[in-house]
Amino acid sequence: MLRLTKIICTLGPTSCTPAQVAALARGGMNIARINLAHGTWPEHRKTIRIVKTLNRKLAASGKLPSCVGILLDTRGAEVRTGIVSEVISIRKGELVIFSPHALPKEKRRVIIVNHKTFAKDARQAEQILLDNGKMSFELVAARADGSVVARARQKGVVGSRRHVNLPGANLDMPSLTKDDWESIANAANEGVDFLGLSFIRKASEIEDVRAWLARRKKSICLIAKIETRQGLQNLQEIIEVSDAVMVARGDLGAEIPFEQLPVAQNEIVLRSRAAGKPVIIATHMLESMVENPIPTRAEVTDIAHAAMTSSDMTMLSGETASGAHPLLALDAMDRVLRETEAHLAAGFRMLDATIRNNRDAQAKAVVTDAIASSASAIAVVTRTGRTAREIARFRPHMPIIAFAPNRRVQRALQLSFGVIPLVTPFKSDPEATLSAGVALARKAGLLRKGSEIALVSDAKAHDKYVSTIQIRKIA
Ligand code: PEP
Repeated sequence: MLRLTKIICTLGPTSCTPAQVAALARGGMNIARINLAHGTWPEHRKTIRIVKTLNRKLAASGKLPSCVGILLDTRGAEVRTGIVSEVISIRKGELVIFSPHALPKEKRRVIIVNHKTFAKDARQAEQILLDNGKMSFELVAARADGSVVARARQKGVVGSRRHVNLPGANLDMPSLTKDDWESIANAANEGVDFLGLSFIRKASEIEDVRAWLARRKKSICLIAKIETRQGLQNLQEIIEVSDAVMVARGDLGAEIPFEQLPVAQNEIVLRSRAAGKPVIIATHMLESMVENPIPTRAEVTDIAHAAMTSSDMTMLSGETASGAHPLLALDAMDRVLRETEAHLAAGFRMLDATIRNNRDAQAKAVVTDAIASSASAIAVVTRTGRTAREIARFRPHMPIIAFAPNRRVQRALQLSFGVIPLVTPFKSDPEATLSAGVALARKAGLLRKGSEIALVSDAKAHDKYVSTIQIRKIA
């Protein structure tokens, strides 16, 4: 059985050679993510080339996996600690200084932060969190020189470029920084498939990026990362203008009290699914596997929960980027998703998503037909990917084989639940396109002689082509 929930693997020092990337693709990576918070552009370009070279080989083989999408994830308006030559050890109860600039005369330990208005913003915050909440500090005083005195609630160590969160504060910096706009320009030049936009707080930020790309005649799928309170408050408007949504639990879990995170995740998944926008569950899915060869019980249950709530994708971050066992982590995620999907398939047929228009009605009809006729797959001829996404919204527990006209549409469909996209030469006669697609699907091992499929394709009716749903047996 093919896995329907897709997997994103973050590439990094332990996973960016051609052999490592190819091994991850064989292991089931659907999308390769590059986190722009780390590394340099020459390094990122090299990694992009490696994935593109692999894609050419995959396309030539005609076998599955057919391609790996490329996602660049922007740094965003984040606060991080500065570079330290040695980690700073801090005692429980110790008073430390957070400062945007060096304080040579200060007797207490100084933690440098990359945010000029840190003291002003820290005043609105409930506390200061470091390393996604591994350490927390109580604010004691915000000083006129722009620094902050804070008391450590636990002992711990502070290293270079660690995440700093100010929960409750609306940071005085644009969500898209100068650095992000440079990344967006680089992403457009490199021709990547997806842009993960960090710390999105309102819909207009996504619209600004889309308009900027359109002015340059570029188009990239835009993924809104929900990781702030403002992002959660404006969730619906953000979903409506985004191509996909990521539950960025690392920062979100620090920005809101952690007990609220599961409900927030559910809300993001439910709303994204209802809007037909692919949704990704990210961060700490297999965190213990950064070091250990097997996952914890809680981690496997977390992955299964993502599948049980019909998320489109799950994501690995440090586990594959810098962990000791990237392939084992991917294998663990793949196994848990498959097992959960097999369990769901026994009782669950499809989601009862709302019908918003006649296209949704057709998508629901093909899924219903496929289930009623025990088809082994749904096949769809899809010029832009839209029809395949509309079908995926009903989460049929069978593959949706999408015949797409080019590699761009093919890779974009890697985001969607259950969709296996194949690049198919489009002919003027839809029947000829279909024959070419079926031949490719047979070569990839997706269909066999005698397999029954439910199909959405155009067919000639008198002098016009009309969209049809058909049940066909593969000859
Ligand atoms: C997150 O915060 O969960 C996340 C995915 O963002 P990043 O890893 O880029 O901080």
